Amino acid sequence: MDKIQNMFNARLIAAGKHIEVSNQFKKLKTDQERIVFTLNLMQQYDIVPSATGMPKNAKESEKLREEGNKVFVTGILNNTICIDALKLYTKSIAFAPYPSEQLARSYANRSAVLFKLGLYSECIQDIDRALALNYPDNLRVKLYLRKTECLMIMGNHSVEDTLKEAQHWLEKMSINDTSRERFTAKLDVLHNKITQTKVNKNTKVKTEETPALPIIKSYNNEVPCASDAVAIKYNERYGRHIVATRKIHPGEIIAVEKPYALILVQENMQTHCSNCLRVCWANIPCNYCTYAMYCSEECRNIEWEKCHNIECVIFPAVLEYSIYNLDLCSIRLAVLALREAGGIEKLKTMVKEVDEHDDPRTKGFSQDGKLHSNRYIGVYSLVTNTEKRSVSDLFKRSFDTSFIVYFLATRTVIFGAKLPEDLSGLAKNNDVTFIGSLILRHQQIIPSNMHSFGETQGLEHLERGIAAMPFFSLINHGCDPNILRHSRPEHIVIYAMYPIEKGEQLLDNYGKHYAVMSKAQRQQKLFKQYYFICDCIPCQEDWPLYVELQSYQTLVKKPEDKAKIKKALKKFNMYVDLATIGNVPNRPYIIKDLLKMIQVLHDCAPMPCEEMSNVIETLKRVYDFNGNICEIPQIQK
Ligand SMILES: [Zn+2]
Ligand SMILES: [Zn+2]
Ligand SMILES: [Zn+2]
Repeated sequence: MDKIQNMFNARLIAAGKHIEVSNQFKKLKTDQERIVFTLNLMQQYDIVPSATGMPKNAKESEKLREEGNKVFVTGILNNTICIDALKLYTKSIAFAPYPSEQLARSYANRSAVLFKLGLYSECIQDIDRALALNYPDNLRVKLYLRKTECLMIMGNHSVEDTLKEAQHWLEKMSINDTSRERFTAKLDVLHNKITQTKVNKNTKVKTEETPALPIIKSYNNEVPCASDAVAIKYNERYGRHIVATRKIHPGEIIAVEKPYALILVQENMQTHCSNCLRVCWANIPCNYCTYAMYCSEECRNIEWEKCHNIECVIFPAVLEYSIYNLDLCSIRLAVLALREAGGIEKLKTMVKEVDEHDDPRTKGFSQDGKLHSNRYIGVYSLVTNTEKRSVSDLFKRSFDTSFIVYFLATRTVIFGAKLPEDLSGLAKNNDVTFIGSLILRHQQIIPSNMHSFGETQGLEHLERGIAAMPFFSLINHGCDPNILRHSRPEHIVIYAMYPIEKGEQLLDNYGKHYAVMSKAQRQQKLFKQYYFICDCIPCQEDWPLYVELQSYQTLVKKPEDKAKIKKALKKFNMYVDLATIGNVPNRPYIIKDLLKMIQVLHDCAPMPCEEMSNVIETLKRVYDFNGNICEIPQIQK
């Protein structure tokens, strides 16, 4: 997108209109006016969006499969290589036309990687998919043999039918086929194995266990997902913010919020489900586009009804302009809003009511006086920072949005029917520019409010998706936050980390923590993205980075306090070791103990303090074991 925008700017400069256009744009008052203006400008300077939409393509599928083969068949196998090959085969599956031999072959090749990685039930799924398609007859024996092996490893004794199928296809193979001998030998080995019924019972099939969601003791009257220990407040200085209505203890659950929208980041499409976001090593594709992939047909159907029947042609088209996840999210929000409202006119009424609402504290609340996380107005009412944005920032977003809305109008039936590819015609269409204005608004809301939806992979914390959260977005930033959050399959859970006094503000961290970033850097980055100057305590007192933090042994003067801390931290090193090897999910007493350490350090040591930072990091890690995990399958020797 940047490239095309640069080209556009160059045309403006060449025409000597750069400053004039910038001044005109600056005067525009609403997002809808900005979209009308940009569409007309594109028409005037002949910037017409075009994209192939990356359709299914047998050649591309074959190319990707061959790349997969190069990695998998000719490389020295290790985990990384297997995963790389798997991703290439999955991409090849996405590009293969449905139904086709290419699709069958890609499933078959991926089943070999899944077998190598010990993912036997996924391997069988892929084999069955290949066999149900036009997989070549002379290769079928190989798949039946692989399936037999999987079944045997999984402890399934009834493999006779599968072996019979293998025998059947072996007999059909040409006498001259050089693989025939090898398959015959393999078949004999497997035959002997079942007659001896020596089944490897040690291989257990893993199933993903999801720990139950934590329960909030007493719910909030205004915010259904939150505890009544907090309340939404508003003032000039902090805008909307969240404060404690009573003393909150470390570890208390503040909220369990289900995002209004949750979207998988592009980078995870080959390894996670677009709909439920769970890890899946044997994804199936959308039958129409080359982008979306799913863990199951059920998820594919759910997402189709929810939003993908619109996104299916849009995402691949806009992706050709190498756009960001935020652009995809801005489209998703518009589609969900439209579905929720039940039509464009109803959606117009819905947002008009929010625009006319004059109490800033309760903006986005529903008629029942509550802020619901599953209603669009909760997202729509989040801060946009429009008036603080530069002309170039707003223009860039307006330009991106105009491309998106052009594709929406001309390639989908979101406006009743596909509209003609005529920029000035679209600029005159109120429905088009209204939806454009919403997407442009999302483009401003997202960078200031969206949350990363995470997962743990080994010792790393990674981004799985992006979440739009009406309540959670109201929590302001602090460079030493007093809450922490972690992601569950469909929710984000917020805990109190420090003791929080009645009336005190809850603070989240927007990725700029005092321990890893200098004050100057934090302040600069926060201002650039969120348009505020942080005045939290670490900023006021200019706390040192983690490497310069002092131990409580230096900081604490009173011997009795020192002794208290020492006693509380007794088992800390052991917990660190357990957390590092990941051996904590079923030991809730560790969390309890860590929370107690926080309380004692909070009471007895001045902040910042090295031990507090260490305890917090360990606690986060322990919480994350109950959250989303992406376990990389290990190669089977
Ligand atoms: Zn799924
Ligand atoms: Zn699709
Ligand atoms: Zn700060």
